[in-house]
Amino acid sequence: MVPEDAEGDCLSLMTDEPINPDAIVEIEQLCGRHVTLRHVPSELYRRHMREVYGLGAEALAGEGASPAPQEEGGPPDVGTVRFVRELLSEAVTKGASDIHLEPCLEGLRVRLRVDGLLEVLPVPTDLSRHSMKVASRIKVMAGLDPSPSKAPKEGRIRYEGRDLRVSILPVPRGEAVHLRFLAPAGELPDLSGLGLSSHQCTLLCSAARIRGGLIVACGPTGSGKSTTLHVLLRKAIPLTEKIITVEDPVEYELNNAVQVEVRPKVSFASALKAVLRHDPDVILIGEMRDSESAGIAVEAALTGHLVLTSLHTEDEVQAITRLRQLGLSPGLLASSLRLLISQRLVRRTCGACRGTGESGGVLCTFCGGNGLKGRIGLFRITRVDEELLTAIESGADETRLRTVLQQSGAMALPDVGRRLVEQGITTAQEVTRVLGDGV
Ligand SMILES: [Zn+2]
Repeated sequence: MVPEDAEGDCLSLMTDEPINPDAIVEIEQLCGRHVTLRHVPSELYRRHMREVYGLGAEALAGEGASPAPQEEGGPPDVGTVRFVRELLSEAVTKGASDIHLEPCLEGLRVRLRVDGLLEVLPVPTDLSRHSMKVASRIKVMAGLDPSPSKAPKEGRIRYEGRDLRVSILPVPRGEAVHLRFLAPAGELPDLSGLGLSSHQCTLLCSAARIRGGLIVACGPTGSGKSTTLHVLLRKAIPLTEKIITVEDPVEYELNNAVQVEVRPKVSFASALKAVLRHDPDVILIGEMRDSESAGIAVEAALTGHLVLTSLHTEDEVQAITRLRQLGLSPGLLASSLRLLISQRLVRRTCGACRGTGESGGVLCTFCGGNGLKGRIGLFRITRVDEELLTAIESGADETRLRTVLQQSGAMALPDVGRRLVEQGITTAQEVTRVLGDGV
C-alpha cells in the first residue's frame, strides 16, 4: 500500500492487490487515523509508488551501503542490479535519449533527457549510499573495470536490442555516469516524418542527387542536424553510391554506409584523407571544426563528391561566416555550396490527450501529463541560387547575406513555427521556448 493523501485524521492509501478489510482495521489501529483504501490498476500503483519513494526503492530496500573503495570488486548485489534494470526500463518507457547520474551535495541526482529537456527522476533519498555500487554495476555491464576510475572511461551496453554509450567521469564525490541511447537506423523516420514540407523534401532530394557540392546543416546543439543528414543519406542516396561518414562518435548505424569514428588519436583531417582514398561518392563529415578538414571537404566537393556536414551556428548566415573563418575563400565557397539547412526541434502536442495532459480524468500516461510528446523539426531549406552565389562570391557582409536569404522566398523559422501552431502540431509557448522571444 502507498499513501496517497493525508488530511486531518484521515489517511488515504492505494493498492493494486485485493482489499483486505482486516488490514484496514489494523492500519487504523497502528496509525490512529481513519483509513480509506483505494484499489487501482497495477500501472497506476507502481507509478505512484515511484513518485512517493523514488525509482527502485523496493529494489534497494534492505541492501547494504556501498562498500569502501578497498572492498570494491565483489559481485554487485541483487538490489543494485534491479535498480539499474529499473532505471534503464524507465528511460526506455519515457523515450529518453540520455541518462545522467551525478553525485552532488544532496546525494546522487538522476536525470533523464526526454525530447531534449532534462527532468529529475525521483529516487530513494538514500540512493547516494549505493552510488558506488550503481556505478560499478554499469561499468561491469559496459565491459569496463568496475573499480573506481581515476580517468574518464567509455564503454557500451546492449539493453533490450538498444545500444547505449557509457561514459564515466571521475568527480570529487565519486563518478558521474552518462548513458546515451544510440538510435539504430531502423528508427530513423522518413524525410517527411522529420517535419519537412513536401517542397522541402524535393529540394533536399534533388540536391542529394547531384554529385559535387556541399550541403550544410546548421543550428545549435541538439537541434537535430545530425538526424536530418543521416535520414538524407539513408533515404535519398541509392545503393549504387558509396557513402562514407566521418563522425565523432557514430550515433546512427547506417547499413548503406562505411562509418569512420574519429578517435582521440585520429584527427578529422587525417581520417578524411584516408576516406578519400576509398573511392566515395558521398561523404558525411559529422562536424566541420578545423580549417584543414574544411579545405579537404571543399576540395572533395569540387571534385565530384557530394559532401554533407553540420555547423553549430544559429543560422545560415553565421554558417557562411564560419566557413569563411575556416579559411575558405569566397570563390571556393560560392562554387561548392549547394544547399543550406537551418533547423530547430520543438516538442509536439501529445496525440493521446491532445495537449490537455489528461485523458478520462486521469494523468495522460503517454506524455506524463505535460501535454507534449515527441519532437518535430522547424526547417528552412535554402538552395544557393544565382543571387546568393553572387553575394557569397563578392564577400558580402552578414547584413547583405541576410537580406538575400530573406528574398530567396524560403519561409523563416518563426513563420514555420507559427504554421505548426495553427495546425495544432505544437504550441506557441514551445516555439517561443526554442526560438526565443520576439517571435
Ligand atoms: Zn498526453
